[in-house]
Amino acid sequence: MSQRPIYLDCHATTPMDKRVLDAMLPYFSEHFGNPSSITHVYGWEAEAAVKKAREMLADAIGCTPEEIVFTSGATEANNLAIKGVAEAYFSKGRHIITPQTEHNAVLDPCHYLESLGFEVTFLPVRQDGLIDLEELEEAIRPDTILVSVMAANNEIGVIQPLEEIGKICRQHEVLFHTDAAQAIGKIPLDVQKMKIDLMSLTAHKVYGPKGIGALYVRRRNPRVNLAAQMHGGGHERGMRSGTLCTPQIVGFAKAVELGLAELKSESKRQMQLRERLWQQLAQLDGIHLNGHPTQRLPGNLNISVEGVDGAALLLGLQPVVAVSSGSACSSTSTAPSHVLTALGHSQSLAYASIRFGIGRFTTTEEIDKVAQHAIATIQSLRQAVVKV
Ligand SMILES: *Cc1c(COP(=O)(O)O)cnc(C)c1O
Repeated sequence: MSQRPIYLDCHATTPMDKRVLDAMLPYFSEHFGNPSSITHVYGWEAEAAVKKAREMLADAIGCTPEEIVFTSGATEANNLAIKGVAEAYFSKGRHIITPQTEHNAVLDPCHYLESLGFEVTFLPVRQDGLIDLEELEEAIRPDTILVSVMAANNEIGVIQPLEEIGKICRQHEVLFHTDAAQAIGKIPLDVQKMKIDLMSLTAHKVYGPKGIGALYVRRRNPRVNLAAQMHGGGHERGMRSGTLCTPQIVGFAKAVELGLAELKSESKRQMQLRERLWQQLAQLDGIHLNGHPTQRLPGNLNISVEGVDGAALLLGLQPVVAVSSGSACSSTSTAPSHVLTALGHSQSLAYASIRFGIGRFTTTEEIDKVAQHAIATIQSLRQAVVKV
């Protein structure tokens, strides 16, 4: 087989770190017990591992272990947060606010709630992808029950001003949920300082296993009520039934622990790689950087390319680099990214975009190889257009 392309799609998922795998392995066949089994040592072993992982994750975001509810990932956590709040607070109000640039795992539960009679304000964003705080405040009504704003965008990497948003929500006594799937282990998160009431997490974007995540649910000041979306054995304080998957949970905590331990050095390293890639690509004319230039994830570079067809561009890049245009989660659709069109891009410019996701295992040599190939591909596509 020929060499596989260089992986620069770390916003879709990341390879699992070997240290995470090592931490997980004993919990598959050796310490395999059900953490809910309270009558024997098999259960106790698993329960101890889950407890330790829960404490670690709570520490990572500044909450208590009881406030962590394990889920299958961020999609489920978002669904639990948004539908769970809607169901618990509908007698107080039926209005929700969320930006247009959210992940579909936030937008789709909101659309679903609209079909049940809730009202959703889909906030526009500025050209740099950030929300306008004044617009947010103006959108809050007496019947608003929830504001859901993602921590970091999965396409353009922009980091929203969580602390300011939290302050506004608290002043107006509206619950604040944030989808932090791309942010956990990459940027500092503190639910107290940022006044966050609900936060969705996932392991597989931070070199952990797929199929595990969590929802942070605030227990005091204020206490958040949540209607369960999964009923059964009453696990996770009744908020999410289902046997806990110990190996995944252990791996999740290990992944976040490693992410935080290496946060500073990795941020710096990835930012340098991103700058290196951008400096090379920006030598061409008609290359646009999407999203705020500095307030973004260190490993994210999203560009739009003038004068080329988006599909042809991706096809040309494919043999050398694994990247995506827009988000992997909606990559089966041919419509341009809803995030890029929300920035005010034309359809064709939004379509001719590339999302580079640099990660822990990306090297300088890989970046240079990708830059060279991308430049050559863009140039040859542009020449082909001229000839026709
Ligand atoms: C990946 C992602 C999700 C979905 O997370 P899963 O754990 O794969 O369900 C949700 N929101 C954002 C911002 C993401 O990047």
